[in-house]
Order: sequence, then structure tokens, then C-alpha cells
Amino acid sequence: MDFRYSDEETAFLKEVQQYIAESVPAGWLGVDPGPEEEANEEVYQLSLRNWRRLGERHWIGLTYPPEYGGQGAPLMKEMVLLQELAYRGCPGCDVGLVEADLILQFGTEEQKRRLVPPILRGEVKWAIGMSEPNAGSDTFNVQLAAVEQDDCYVLNGQKIWSSGAQHAQREVVYARTGPEKHRGVSVFLVDLSSPGISIRQIATMTGLRPFCEVFFDNVRVPKEDLLGKKNGGLQILMYAFGAERSSGLYALHNSRRYLDQLVKYCQKTVVDGKPLSQDPAVRTKLGQLAIEAEIGMGLGDQLNWMASKGMNTVKPSNQMKIYGARTYQRVAQAGQEILGLYGQLNEDSRWVQLGGRLRHAYLSSVAATLLGGTTEIARNHIAGRFGLGLPEA
Ligand SMILES: Cc1cc2nc3c(=O)[nH]c(=O)nc-3n(C[C@H](O)[C@H](O)[C@H](O)COP(=O)(O)OP(=O)(O)OC[C@H]3O[C@@H](n4cnc5c(N)ncnc54)[C@H](O)[C@@H]3O)c2cc1C
Repeated sequence: MDFRYSDEETAFLKEVQQYIAESVPAGWLGVDPGPEEEANEEVYQLSLRNWRRLGERHWIGLTYPPEYGGQGAPLMKEMVLLQELAYRGCPGCDVGLVEADLILQFGTEEQKRRLVPPILRGEVKWAIGMSEPNAGSDTFNVQLAAVEQDDCYVLNGQKIWSSGAQHAQREVVYARTGPEKHRGVSVFLVDLSSPGISIRQIATMTGLRPFCEVFFDNVRVPKEDLLGKKNGGLQILMYAFGAERSSGLYALHNSRRYLDQLVKYCQKTVVDGKPLSQDPAVRTKLGQLAIEAEIGMGLGDQLNWMASKGMNTVKPSNQMKIYGARTYQRVAQAGQEILGLYGQLNEDSRWVQLGGRLRHAYLSSVAATLLGGTTEIARNHIAGRFGLGLPEA
């Protein structure tokens, strides 16, 4: 295995770096990729602008077939883009699209032509409606009911933790259409402007409100918006789990950005007459985190390589999910320890260091354990059929 970028990939990386330099304000310290910080209106506006610019460049869904607006590019090219956007914390960098993947994999030809191109043009945002108050890790316990009626399904119930639903035009909604736990779930591609839908944002401890509860009150969803077969949600869910767990890669590249910022901070900061860079405890911490970031890069390269060869990635994507989350949390923790009391200040304080980014990371990284399936569930998958081979519990 040779994980170095090819000449073509290196040239593309330079193009991406140039794009980022033109897309963020001078001195940009980065934000966490995805809906979390897009709950901040300023970041959202920047994200929206960048998302459209990415669409104009045909960089959203690079790997998708040209007939649906993609470029049919190799997966590694998309990885070059995604990893650099995430490392630089560039708003609007969500170019790995679970919803478009699902539609291309399970949708009808009509759905692919109608729904995928607007996503790739950066025009239509989607949310994912999997979780409910009583269906988190136990996803197949979804209770939101979809009852077939004439030319539509009528949906009643609620979703929770739908990230970015307040900005989305559509949502992938997992709903109950039959009594059998695993074979009674169907998936709908719901227009969020449909009558009967109401959305309530939920605040997190970062102070932002990135998640939503989405309530469905007799919402009529046309039959052409059923994804796959009625009661065929099992296969779609299993596929979606795999796609979601690449969240570990985002967390890892986030950590790399913060780690590099901490190193620079230590290089120029003197505390009580002593340079931080010469403090043995600080050096040990940074040295240890450098090892962890490198190992994470190795895991990520392996995951990307296996995915690009069409291999089963259940084990490496779950490993990446756990490792990326853990590294993010450890870098954020180290940031708090190195910055000391400055670490607690938010971006409004005149004394703030590193733009308050480490404070944000410390608070938001907690959720990385849960995001896209919890660490415990990920470990369970590694222990199972595609990993250690233990029988399912
Ligand atoms: C940042 C963030 C973004 C999210 N975005 C979305 C989104 O866009 N759309 C969406 O649908 N959902 C989203 N979620 C929800 C996420 O998928 C759920 O939080 C996750 O699946 C866990 O479900 P839960 O919170 O109900 O916890 P629970 O499933 O109730 O778990 C509680 C605890 O019990 C443990 N546990 C549960 N079952 C087992 C088991 N069998 N074995 C061992 N331990 C177990 C868990 O690991 C966890 O520690 C998001 C969550 C976060 C944190």
C-alpha cells in the first residue's frame, strides 16, 4: 500500500488550497465541519456561499456519475478535497453526502434525476431523520408511523437530533410501515415545507442550536418519495450506518487543525518568563498527541484506500469513528490544559487566545462519542461479523 498522493492528486490538493484561501476571511482559524457551527448565522452564511461555489466548480459529489451532475472522479480525489476542507475548518465543506449516496444506491431513476442534481449544485440541503426519543442506538425501534393512503403515505410522529434541519429543504425520514421490528421500516425523502411539519431547535452546551426536533402531524408524502421498497428500510439503514461512520475522519482532521494551532501558540507564548515550548509537561503532551494524530492519519488512509477499492469498510470505518472522536477529545482537553484559564474564554473576550476555538472544541467534542452511532455500538460492530467474527449478541 502506498498512501502518498499521486502527482495528479497533489496538483488537485494545491487547487483546493487555493480555493480555501479565497473562500475564508484572512486569519481564519477554522470551524468544525458540518451543521454544528452552521447554527451560528455568520458561519451559516459563509457556508452557504461556499457550498454554492463548490457546486459551481462541480466539486460536490465528485465521484458521482456525470448524468446526475457528478464527475465520475476516483474516490481518492474526493478524499483529497474533503480532508483539506475539514483540516482548514472551511465552512460549507460537507461534500460527503449521505442523502445523495442513498438516493443513488436505492432510488428510482426518476428520483436520481429529480433529487441528486440540486444537491450537487449546492442548492438543496438535506437533514437525516433517523433518531427518535426511543430510537437511538436501537434504531429499528422507530415509531414515527407512515400509513399508506391513496397516492401517498401519511406520516405521524417525531424525529429528534436532526442536525441542521432548520436550514434544510428535505429530510431522509425512517418510518414504521409494518409491525416487524427490522422488516417494518421504510424510508421517505420528505419535503420539509409540507403542511403538518414543525421544527424546533435544541440548544447544546456550546450555546449553539444545531439539532432539531421535527414533528409530523398528518404529513402527506407522495408515493414517488418512498426510497426503495415499502418495508425495505433494513438494507438502506445498514448502508447509511457505514456512510455515517466516516464522521471519524472529520473529527480527526479537526484535531489536526487544533493541534497545529496549539503548537504555534506554544512556540510564541511565554508564561512567567518561560517559553511554553520549553515546558516539559507541554512538550510531552504535544509529542503524545502528534503520535495519535499520525496513527489516525494511517487509519484514515487505510479506510480511504479500502473504500476506493470497493472493499468492506465496516471495521475500519468504525475504528476511525472511535479513534477520530477520541483524538478530537484528547486534543481539546490538552488545549484546555495548555491555555489554562484563557481556555475558558469565549471569542468575545479581549483576552481570548486562539479565537476561543479550543473552548468550543472542548465542549463540542463530547458529542463526537455519540455522533453517527455511539462508541459502544461501533465497538460492537468491530467485534461482530465484519471484524473479529463474534456472533451477533
Ligand atoms: C452531534 C450529533 C449529531 C447528530 N445528528 C443526527 C442527525 O442528523 N440525525 C439523526 O437521526 N440523529 C442524529 N444524532 C443522534 C445520534 O445518532 C444518537 O445520539 C445516537 O444514535 C445514540 O442514540 P441516543 O442518543 O438515543 O442514545 P442511546 O441509544 O439511548 O444510548 C445511551 C447510551 O447507552 C449505550 N448503549 C445503547 N445501546 C447499547 C448496546 N446495545 N450496547 C452497548 N451500549 C449501548 C450507548 O452507547 C450510550 O452510551 C446526532 C447526535 C449527535 C451527538
